[in-house]
Amino acid sequence: MYILVINAGSSSLKYQLFDMPSDKPLCSGLIERIGTDEAFIRHKILTSVPAQTIERKATIADHTAGLQQMVYLLSDAQIGIIHSADEIQAVGHRVVHGGERFAGATLITPAVKEAIKALFPLAPLHNPVNYKCIEIAEKTFPNARQIAIFDTAFHQTMPAYAFRYAIPEELYAEDGIRVYGFHGTSHKYVSEKASAWLGKPDAKLISLHLGNGCSITAVQAGKSIDTSMGFSPLAGLVMGTRSGDIDPAIIFHLVSNGYSPDEVNDLLNKQSGMQGLTGLNDMRDIRKALEAGNRAAALALDIYAYRIRKYIGAYAAVLNGLDALLFTAGVGENDSAMREQVCSSLDVLNIHLDSSKNSTSSSEIRDVSRAGAAVKILVIPTNEELEIAIQSFELLFPS
Ligand code: ADP
Repeated sequence: MYILVINAGSSSLKYQLFDMPSDKPLCSGLIERIGTDEAFIRHKILTSVPAQTIERKATIADHTAGLQQMVYLLSDAQIGIIHSADEIQAVGHRVVHGGERFAGATLITPAVKEAIKALFPLAPLHNPVNYKCIEIAEKTFPNARQIAIFDTAFHQTMPAYAFRYAIPEELYAEDGIRVYGFHGTSHKYVSEKASAWLGKPDAKLISLHLGNGCSITAVQAGKSIDTSMGFSPLAGLVMGTRSGDIDPAIIFHLVSNGYSPDEVNDLLNKQSGMQGLTGLNDMRDIRKALEAGNRAAALALDIYAYRIRKYIGAYAAVLNGLDALLFTAGVGENDSAMREQVCSSLDVLNIHLDSSKNSTSSSEIRDVSRAGAAVKILVIPTNEELEIAIQSFELLFPS
C-alpha cells in the first residue's frame, strides 16, 4: 500500500511516499518559503536510477496550495507515481506535541483533532500548522486514513521523577508544565536499530540526535527514561540557534533590563546556541571558521561537546550501565571530529572511539568503537519519515 508521510513546518512542507510494508521510498519532496512568491519546490523521484530531481520556484500562497503542488507532482502524467490522489491509502502526519494523551501512533478521528487543538497552547508554532495540514489532507485524500505520529510520544514512558519539575504542583496539574521531550520519532528509530544490531532487546542506550535541534535520550529496553529537551525544545544541549540549558534567572535579568518576553523568546530560540557564540549556525561553516583560526568557533565547539559529555555522564548514571552510544542526524552522522571530541576522556564509562573507523562514512549503521570495547559507539542514519510510515502501517495492520 502507498503511505504518504507529511512533515509540515510553519513555512515548509516535507513529504515522502512509501510502498509499505517493503519500506521502499518512491519519491520525496520539500517545499520551502510557503506564503511567498519565492517558494521553492524540490521533488525527487526515487524509483528512477539515478534519482530524478525536479526543482522550481513557484508562488505558493499557503499549505493548501503546497499540498496541491505535491499532488500534481505525485500524479503527473510523465513523472508521476500514482494516477490519482485516491491511490494513497494512508497519510502519516508528524505532529509535534501529543501532550500526555498520546503515547503512540494514533488514527485521527474528530476527537483526536480536538485533542491536537487543545494542545495548541503547548506548541503554538507547530501544532496549529500540523492540524491545518491534517484538515487539508482529509480533503485532498478522502480515501486515506489519516494517522498522527507525535514527536513527544516516545518519551511518555519517562517516570514522574524524571518528567516533573520542582515547581508548584498545580502548574503541572492545571497547566501541564512538565518535561515532554521531542525528536521522539528519531530516538525511537535509531534505538530500535541499535537494539536489533546488538541483538539485545533490553539494551541500555544513550541516543544523541545532533541536527539543527539537538537532544539526548536515555533508553532502556526500548523505552525512553529521560531526555534533554523539556517542556519545549529549548532545553538541554547547545543547538544551532537555541541556547539549551541556562539559568532561568537570566530571563528575569533580561526582562528587568528592558527585553520583552517575545524578545527573550527570540533571543534564546533563534539567536543563541552556536549562532550566538560564533555568528554561524551551520556546523560545516563553524568547522571552516575553526580551520581559519577563529577562536570563538573553537570555544563554541568545546561548549557544545562539553554539554553533551555532561549529559552522557548523567544518563549513564540513571541507566546504571551502558551498552551503546548512538550518534544520529546531520552533525551526529557526518561530523567525525565532533564524535571524537565527545567520546574523548570518557574512559570511566568504557567509551573508547577508534579514530580510523570514525573517519569513514557510510549510509548504513556502523560501529566506530575500538575493537573489543564494552560500550559500542554506533553511527546510525536516522529516517523519521520512514519511522512515521512504519508506525502508520503497524497501526493499520498490527503484526
Ligand atoms: P534538522 O534538525 O533540521 O533535521 P539535520 O539533521 O539536517 O537538521 O542537521 C543539520 C546540521 O547538520 C547542520 O548544522 C549541518 O551543518 C550539519 N551537517 C550536515 N552535514 C555535515 C557535515 N558533513 N559535517 C558537519 N556537519 C554537518
